Amino acid sequence: MLRRRILLIEDEESISEPLASALERDGFDVVVAATAAQGRERFHAESPDLVLLDVMLSDGDGKDVLREIRSASRTPVIMVTARGEELERVLGLELGADDYVTKPFSAAELAARVRAVLRRVDAPTSPGEAVLEVGDVRMELDRHEVKSGGNAVELTVKEFEVLRMLLENAGKVVRREQLIREVWDTSWFGSTKTLDVHVSALRKKLGDNPSSPRFIHTVRGIGFRFASSEELNART
Ligand code: CA
Repeated sequence: MLRRRILLIEDEESISEPLASALERDGFDVVVAATAAQGRERFHAESPDLVLLDVMLSDGDGKDVLREIRSASRTPVIMVTARGEELERVLGLELGADDYVTKPFSAAELAARVRAVLRRVDAPTSPGEAVLEVGDVRMELDRHEVKSGGNAVELTVKEFEVLRMLLENAGKVVRREQLIREVWDTSWFGSTKTLDVHVSALRKKLGDNPSSPRFIHTVRGIGFRFASSEELNART
């Protein structure tokens, strides 16, 4: 089997060394970066399959590194936080982290999380998997059809693409820049009014109330987040 490469960004050697050895014993290739700067550099140089990212780094905030990774890619990221950093954890997930672990943790626990995240990331892109379903919103990619609560929803091509990205990342924030880059194929980050127009059209068509949305949530200054299946099921 192909060995998956993990980038571990952690400034404490007493943590990174045993962790790297344990993950290597588990069959992963591990690249260690001891600073935020080195982490950014290694991320671009190594194209890791997954990033383990400490929140508190000697030369910066792990969340800034996460933001940068998210603006460029969907590589899975597991945040490493210290006990009591509840806010850090929430912010990390809002910024698009895939999971988090709280220190102290065992290498076995971490390896299990890593495998779970990789499995989750691998699953939706497997060939033949042409349906995205979150709550009662169902998108059939091949047929270009969307249903909400069993009723067909007519979408324009761009609305369909925006919704597709949101559904693919359900539960996670998709950044405005990312939506614009992938849906409109442009890196023009000037006015993003076009995106807002499309999101409000989508909300209308899905029957979402903009002041208290059920499906598409606005994350101010960052982007949009489609509710996770768990959230939607909890509300019904
Ligand atoms: Ca640290």
